[in-house]
Amino acid sequence: MLSILIVEDEQAIANLIHISLSDEGYRCTCAFDGKQGADLIEQETFDLILLDIMLPEFDGYELLEYIKPTGTPVIFLTAKGAVSDRIKGLKLGADDYIVKPFQIGELLARVEAVLRRYGKSEKQLAVADVFINTDSRSVTKDGRSVDLTAKEFDLLVELVRNKNVALYRDRLYEKVWNEPFTGETRTLDTHIQRLRKKLDWEERIRTVFRIGYRLEG
Ligand code: CA
Repeated sequence: MLSILIVEDEQAIANLIHISLSDEGYRCTCAFDGKQGADLIEQETFDLILLDIMLPEFDGYELLEYIKPTGTPVIFLTAKGAVSDRIKGLKLGADDYIVKPFQIGELLARVEAVLRRYGKSEKQLAVADVFINTDSRSVTKDGRSVDLTAKEFDLLVELVRNKNVALYRDRLYEKVWNEPFTGETRTLDTHIQRLRKKLDWEERIRTVFRIGYRLEG
């Protein structure tokens, strides 16, 4: 499931976006000021961030600087008429902007377009001789079907969507299990072992010292 962070201090707008995107099958988290947004970005990995500009604590521009090193796509939510804000946002590296008030259809279209551009909404994923279909949740290797548990599948998709990126154990765990990481790494590690074995990927899923794992693709 793709996860979206909404940083917006107007509760009504944040709720509207939350409801609309949840209906479309995205997992949404809301932050109502810049500080809360920064804390969430530090703790979790998101596939996309919707970012208001005028925010209490840190504003959207400050937050964008904070987001950039993570490589997470950003869509700015800007007030009507603030053309200079839009230009500044794009110059600073935002992927797109949406002018408030907006139609839900436009929001969805822009969210989908940015996710597509980053290859995050692909339903068919491939690494080497392994093919994954996220609609049917099926996996084949060398044309033969591979039997994975639900968590093994989710973990595989997460690794593949972030291939060649070193993923932190805690973030990987929280993304796949959707619960806070307690420091207990056995669950994640045994799932990785099983994936390596089932896919014959002993070499391809690398252990990254003191960080976690990286899939080489
Ligand atoms: Ca605002």
